[in-house]
Parts: sequence; C-alpha cells; structure tokens
Amino acid sequence: MSEPKTLVMKLDGKEWWREGVQFQCQGSGKCCTSHGEYGFVYMTPKDRQNMAKSLGITTSEFTKKYCEKVDGVWRLKERADNPDCIFLKNGNRCGVYEGRPMQCRTWPFWPEVLSPKAWAKDVVKFCPGVGKGRIWSGDEIEKLIREQVEWDQEIGK
Ligand code: SF4
Repeated sequence: MSEPKTLVMKLDGKEWWREGVQFQCQGSGKCCTSHGEYGFVYMTPKDRQNMAKSLGITTSEFTKKYCEKVDGVWRLKERADNPDCIFLKNGNRCGVYEGRPMQCRTWPFWPEVLSPKAWAKDVVKFCPGVGKGRIWSGDEIEKLIREQVEWDQEIGK
C-alpha cells in the first residue's frame, strides 16, 4: 500500500479532519458539473467494470463508448458543447449511481482538497453538503484517503 499523500498530510500537521467532519450529500449534482481542475471523472479498470455492469453492457463496450485515455490516464469522455459529466441527468441526478466510480463515491474527502486552504476554497464554498448530516470520523476519512491513493495508481491501466 502506498503512503505518500497521507504521510505528507501528517508531516504538514494539517490533519484538521481527524476531529471529524460533518457532511451529507444534498443531491445538488454540483460535484458532477465541470468546475475547473476537478472537472474530469477518472477511471480505473474496476470503475469501468462497475459502471459497465450497472448499465448492462460489457466493459469493453463501455470503455469504447464512454471513455478516453488522455496523457496516459483513463477518464470519461465529455461532450463538446457541455463539459458536465455525461451521466448527469436533469442537472442533479447520476444516471449510473449504483455503479458510480471511486472519485464520485469519495467526494469531498479527496486528498487534494483536504488541506485547510483547499477545503475552504474548493469545498466549503462549493458543496452544499458540508455542515449537514452525520459526522465522518477521522478513521473513516483516512480509510477513504488510503483507498484513493491506491485508486490513483490504477487510472492509467
Ligand atoms: S458518474 Fe455520476 S456521480 Fe460521477 S460525476 Fe458522473 S453523474 Fe456525477
């Protein structure tokens, strides 16, 4: 298992989330619309298998129809006229929710937005789920971070 992202966070003393974070998805669909550098939905082989299965097609059919490999990593294709996720329905609903990829399951606990600065700028101001619902424990958040560090190594495969 890879450690780098979690270790860097510990060494930086930025584990503010250890005390727990209140978050519950409000179904706004905002994280599924294109927003700057977080606009792409990246795919591991497992993500592609899960999404294909939930759509009732083969993984190779899914990959050919919905994915592209850019700069060595797989991601969902985008429409030329609309950069929002191609599976977003009616502006706020995922059309493949049961099979949605890791990136979507773990929002907003992404390593790249868990620094205090990025959390305030890119999550609190953006996501209506922050401060709502249940408290996610530090252990739960660390587990999600570890899963993403592993996931990150698979998106080129
Ligand atoms: S796959 Fe579903 S949850 Fe993920 S960005 Fe697209 S619409 Fe949103």
